[in-house]
Amino acid sequence: MTYSFCSDDFALNPYWWDKTPRPEVEDQALPGSTDVLVIGSGYTGMHCALQTAGAGRQTTVIDAQDLGWGCSTRNGGQISGEIKPDFDQLSRRYGNAEAHALISEARNALDWLGGFVDEQGLDCDYQRNGRFVAAHSARQFDKLVASVQHQPAGLEQSLRIVEPQNQSSEIDSVYYHGGMVVDRHCSLDPAKYHAGLVELARASGAELIGNCAATNIERDGSGFRVTTARGVIQTRELVIATNGYSGTLAPWQQCRVIPIGSYMLATEPMALERSAKLMPQHRVFSDTRKIVVYFRLSPDGRSLLFGGRVSVFESDPVKSLPALRQEMLRIFPQLEDVRISHTWMGFVAYTFDELPHLGQQDGIHYAMGYCGSGICLASYLGHRLGQQMLGLEEGATAFDKPRFQTRPLYSGKPWFLAPSVRYYQMVDRFS
Ligand SMILES: Cc1cc2nc3c(=O)[nH]c(=O)nc-3n(C[C@H](O)[C@H](O)[C@H](O)COP(=O)(O)OP(=O)(O)OC[C@H]3O[C@@H](n4cnc5c(N)ncnc54)[C@H](O)[C@@H]3O)c2cc1C
Repeated sequence: MTYSFCSDDFALNPYWWDKTPRPEVEDQALPGSTDVLVIGSGYTGMHCALQTAGAGRQTTVIDAQDLGWGCSTRNGGQISGEIKPDFDQLSRRYGNAEAHALISEARNALDWLGGFVDEQGLDCDYQRNGRFVAAHSARQFDKLVASVQHQPAGLEQSLRIVEPQNQSSEIDSVYYHGGMVVDRHCSLDPAKYHAGLVELARASGAELIGNCAATNIERDGSGFRVTTARGVIQTRELVIATNGYSGTLAPWQQCRVIPIGSYMLATEPMALERSAKLMPQHRVFSDTRKIVVYFRLSPDGRSLLFGGRVSVFESDPVKSLPALRQEMLRIFPQLEDVRISHTWMGFVAYTFDELPHLGQQDGIHYAMGYCGSGICLASYLGHRLGQQMLGLEEGATAFDKPRFQTRPLYSGKPWFLAPSVRYYQMVDRFS
């Protein structure tokens, strides 16, 4: 089913997959044993494998679908290195030192990622173009101003307020009430980035096997016996890197992450003079709503890529497309005649404390729960996890300290999501 506002070549796939087609699934045999088995082939799994394979450990990465099929090839390509809780919230929970450590490590992760992409020469349209945080109300604008004026000591970064009367330099819209520029934030093409990681992991000796869902884990002496769609594999060490797609395979992890659907659309290409007017600085955008919308231009500058969550319950992206497009038109009414070429969705993983977590439970390693900021943090924590597995001091991270919490009666199906979305939609309306 399509709509009159869809282009003739409308696709129910991530925009990125046109330029980076899905890898062919080869009929690869699963080795009988391996030193390290990584379940999940997104940024977390690939970065972990890069470390262990690079150090000579026989490393096998498997994915239930084709390689990188999860969020890592379907995200918005906005890179922040920010965690959700602010300094005050974190210092109330853990004290000032820990709060400082968590925020500064996440921020440093952004520099680390930029350095990694540069050093490896990855062709992934990495752009250091900054973010515009758009205020959805005058009250939120005042809060942004206060946040710029009162940055926690030692955690200052380059932030600039853009007054409402000057915001046309950033966005061709009267929907917002001014905003804030975060100079450090960046963007990339997520699928090209993932394809680069696949190449690097293969070159470092990792074996990567798609269409190979893991269905059962048993302890076997000092290692594990994992049953998969392609047979059984023995492994000395096991990594769960399934993030928002974590299922019953690893119940301890599953009941600690909250899968939340995020939905995106892409417009058909516009003339450059027209698209460049929308966001003249070519930055990435998000707004101050709790149920946030995020958008940017494609790397070639011609399509608008717009994301958010418009339905209360999880939905088919085709069904929620009219409402998502309506949201886009509220901000950019001038795009009424521009057709939609793609829509898609994926599951991000939230956590109860809104922090990502890395650690080991019952001998199984994991890193997950990036709360929508996984380009930077999944890459970085996957890398740190691999270093920890090698016993390297560089693997030290503040993100393995906070307790990875669950809640009573929660087993991985977020029954509370719909009422929470409704509640936050109301908060957004009145804030
Ligand atoms: C629409 C959307 C927009 C987003 N936008 C941004 C953004 O702009 N910026 C940002 O930083 N982040 C964004 N994110 C989040 C980001 O993409 C993720 O945090 C990140 O990709 C997580 O990487 P990962 O490797 O941990 O998980 P994933 O990439 O999701 O990989 C998990 C993999 O595990 C596999 N798997 C699950 N179960 C099994 C099993 N039993 N056996 C084998 N394999 C299994 C899945 O098939 C999947 O491929 C967005 C996400 C979505 C969906």
